[in-house]
Amino acid sequence: MAGLRRSPCTILVGLLVALFAACMWLAPGGSAVTVLVSNIASVLMTVAAGGAALARAARRGGRMGITWAGIGLGCFSYAYGEASWAWTESVEGHAVSSPGPADLGYLGMVPLIVLGLLFVPVARQSLANRVRGIVDGLMIACSLLLISWIAVLHPLIEAGSDSTLGLVVLLAYPLGDVVLVTVVLYTLAQLRRQGQDSGPLMLIGAAMVVVGVADSAYAYLTLHGTYSSGGLLDLGWFLCFALVLLAALHPDPGPAAGPDPVLATQPFAVLVPYAAVVIALVCSVVFYAVAGRADAFYSYSRSALILLIVVRQLLTLLENRHLTRDLEDRVGARSAQLTVSEARFRALVQQSSDSVAIIDADSTIRYQSDSVKKVFGWTPEHLVGRRLTDLVEPAGRAALGTAIAAALRAPGRAMVLELPVRHRDDTVRLAEMTVTNLLDVPGIHGLVLNTRDVHDQKELQERLVHEAYHDSLTGLASRALFHVRVEEAAAGWTRTDEVAILVLDLDGFKQINDSLGHAAGDQLLVQVAERIRAVVREDDTVARIGGDEFGVVVVSDPARRDAEAVAGRIAATLREPFLVGGRELRTTASIGLARAADAEDVDQLIRNADLAMYRAKAPGGDALAAYDPAMLAGLVERLELEADLRVALAREELTLHYQPTVDLRTHAIVGLEALVRWRHPVRGLVSPLDFIGIAEATGLIVPLGRWVLAEACRQAVAWGAGTTRPLKMAVNVSVRQFEHGDLAATVAEVLAETGMPAGQLCLEMTESVLLTDTDENLTQLHRLKALGVTLAMDDFGTGYSSLAYLRRYPMDILKIDRSFVDRLSGDAGAPGEPQDEALVATIIRLGRSLGMTTVAEGIEDTRQLATLRDLRCDLAQGFLLSRPLPAGDATRLLDEGLTPLPDHVMA
Ligand code: C2E
Ligand code: MG
Ligand code: MG
Repeated sequence: MAGLRRSPCTILVGLLVALFAACMWLAPGGSAVTVLVSNIASVLMTVAAGGAALARAARRGGRMGITWAGIGLGCFSYAYGEASWAWTESVEGHAVSSPGPADLGYLGMVPLIVLGLLFVPVARQSLANRVRGIVDGLMIACSLLLISWIAVLHPLIEAGSDSTLGLVVLLAYPLGDVVLVTVVLYTLAQLRRQGQDSGPLMLIGAAMVVVGVADSAYAYLTLHGTYSSGGLLDLGWFLCFALVLLAALHPDPGPAAGPDPVLATQPFAVLVPYAAVVIALVCSVVFYAVAGRADAFYSYSRSALILLIVVRQLLTLLENRHLTRDLEDRVGARSAQLTVSEARFRALVQQSSDSVAIIDADSTIRYQSDSVKKVFGWTPEHLVGRRLTDLVEPAGRAALGTAIAAALRAPGRAMVLELPVRHRDDTVRLAEMTVTNLLDVPGIHGLVLNTRDVHDQKELQERLVHEAYHDSLTGLASRALFHVRVEEAAAGWTRTDEVAILVLDLDGFKQINDSLGHAAGDQLLVQVAERIRAVVREDDTVARIGGDEFGVVVVSDPARRDAEAVAGRIAATLREPFLVGGRELRTTASIGLARAADAEDVDQLIRNADLAMYRAKAPGGDALAAYDPAMLAGLVERLELEADLRVALAREELTLHYQPTVDLRTHAIVGLEALVRWRHPVRGLVSPLDFIGIAEATGLIVPLGRWVLAEACRQAVAWGAGTTRPLKMAVNVSVRQFEHGDLAATVAEVLAETGMPAGQLCLEMTESVLLTDTDENLTQLHRLKALGVTLAMDDFGTGYSSLAYLRRYPMDILKIDRSFVDRLSGDAGAPGEPQDEALVATIIRLGRSLGMTTVAEGIEDTRQLATLRDLRCDLAQGFLLSRPLPAGDATRLLDEGLTPLPDHVMA
């Protein structure tokens, strides 16, 4: 109602009521003017109230809209009654007779408003609540009826009337008012019970009470013939509709306004029926005491009221019992929940892998969980009452004292520390303790201690760190520790002390590993590690940083020269033969040296040493190389080349040159060797020596090798078409093609694709194929052989292969390496050394004894050619006979005839 309290509408309506009252009061009662004023003002006010109610109905819509529509239509019905009354009285100028049309309008208001009120939205209620609501309504109705009976109805009936209809109409007024007030009060009580603001309805209720009083007074005065229009009584109806107008203008509650719990708990709703009953009973008692008589209606209605009160009480009693039981159930359920959660909490504390304790500020143990037995072997009884500081090993007492002091200063904060604690079995265990100050927490009032045994975990952690930092085979530092040590040395590097590192790689270790097995390789590595350790200073770090790679950190002044000396000692000690599994083995090391002063960080320093090591290895190993920045340029170039090579195939930058092989007896070209070339867009024609290594390292050799194979076969088929004696096409294959992918399957595929007869294809491979993954490669070779392909051993004599391998492998051709052929020429045309010739002769004999065709590579002069022919080498290849030629030139050479050389050369 706050919204209306000081609003302009309230003030205006209040003024109108006051003005109306003044007119009725001051003017002589029943004068024509007052009657006219009363009639017009009443009509206007009723119409205003009805209009405002209908407007509100339109605004609200929904059920509340229907309620307001009912109220509005009720007002208009009443307005019709007023207008009819006014017309008769003020225009026609005679008294209004009852029953008449005016009564119809007045009484019509009752059902319309009641109907509207029935639509007030009330939330769904339980059956008990609905029954109680109905009983409440009956109590109100019965009380009001009793009051009305005493005040109006009974006197009216007693007085009787000229006509029965007149009496009925007269009685209808107070009865209608009883119904109206009952419905309003009942609805109000329902709304209040739900905690809803019912301001407008309160005003409607007040209006209905006012109209009820006015109607009763009217009925009474009419009965006694003393009513006259235009008197003070008219104020009653005017006020009634002024209140309806105010109610209709009352501001709407906000849409989101929910139930107000304060309103819901106010006793209004409960008290209204009782208040009505009390008022009715008091009125009846007083009246009948004064009048000294009673009638049957009085007795019945009083009995009915008492009965209703009893029913109401019974309902309340039942409801209370229900509520009590509900409350008991809820308390029971909550208690059970608490019991369960306490049991759970206790179990958690007791069964936890942590020991939980509460200690006082002076470290006296006040509570100790059973779990301590599992963790440290002690029982709680043994510990409670003792000082924690006495249980911790002396080494941890100071730390514990500090943690407790810190916890005392910071309530709620947890301090974590690690302490040595003695187990009951007398071992000392490392414990992780969390101290939390809960002195202020009710029920605890102490420092809470969670203690875990982290001994094993710590040990494992240390072991893992040791493992990560040490090589399990040799016991040397690992690559990770090497990194750390280099970093430490570089960080501590001063003007007087320098840091240098050596990276060394064993030469030919892979072959040893592959041929003698990993166990032998491991033994060799262990011995190598021991020898390196023996020749460096005690505090120099020696690490195994890869399979057969070792690193040494040298810190001294000047480190570089010392490092060189160390490298020299290492190289020397490694040259001594090793005894592995009763067998004497030899290995050497390629050593790279780099100075911290030349690097920006540790990674760069190690990379520099790696580069130097590769430089040392390149010419054949057993050498020391110190890093110089030019090596980096080489690396960059290599990386660029690698990137370019990745796209070279797709861009069709690769091409093949063909070098003929000539029969030394017939001088005819019997075959060609395909040699790959790279037409680099910037570098020009790049030699395979510069990129085959990269292709092998990156795996690109697999697609590259397949392309070469296919292209060579395609060319061979093209050359062979129409000729009677087909040429043999030799294609080089890398050991990596054996390792990555199925070479035999690839070859079969290519042969099928190109239509190349297998017998015309020769695959050349170096000895490395025979040395790596021996059994696996042997199987591959047999599969290739099964295809019908010829196999050639390229560059024979430069590898590590023993003659035993040659017997084992299904090779058809032996290509004597150029280095042997070179030695046949001697210097400046002088004949070669006899032992060189003897060596080549031996190789040729060996090949023949194994049933292999011998080919001499790299023949550059006629002397070599002559010697080889004398030694009965089968075939020859070399610049003297023909350089490798592009396909077009090779085609011309083949077309011109089978002899590429002038006869004097061949003669
Ligand atoms: P290789 O298989 O031993 O080939 C012979 C190499 O010696 C060729 O070098 C050839 O040009 C060169 N040569 C031939 N006659 C003479 C001579 O009288 N004097 C001199 N100084 N050299 C001569 P190229 O073409 O540079 O090939 C080098 C190596 O690259 C080849 O040696 C081979 O191992 C490899 N290679 C070439 N093409 C391929 C290929 O397609 N695949 C694979 N995996 N390797 C290839
Ligand atoms: Mg070759
Ligand atoms: Mg060769």
